[in-house]
Amino acid sequence: MAKAKGDILINIEKCKGCEICMDACPEDVIAMSKVVNKKGYLYAVKITDSCTGCTNCALVCPDAVITVFRETKQKKEQIATITNVTGNITVTVDK
Ligand code: SF4
Ligand code: SF4
Repeated sequence: MAKAKGDILINIEKCKGCEICMDACPEDVIAMSKVVNKKGYLYAVKITDSCTGCTNCALVCPDAVITVFRETKQKKEQIATITNVTGNITVTVDK
């Protein structure tokens, strides 16, 4: 069966360049930029179109700056946005 098709949107100006999302992505979609953002950090960038929308990157980002999209038969829809996280959370995403 073909892999699901996903996409991510990274708020690069809020990224602190910790690289956790890069390590968490099973598809090697994310790399770090060669230039810094306004805060002076190298930031996460999408480098391939092989995202499956698994949400790993958004779930591990300590600054909650990644939005994940997954295409369905009908349309591409937003399935996960994690914001204002102050402690440990559990998130379940319907497959
Ligand atoms: S949603 Fe999954 S596959 Fe897509 S960039 Fe994030 S970790 Fe990688
Ligand atoms: S986990 Fe979040 S803050 Fe860290 S590099 Fe990725 S997008 Fe930036």
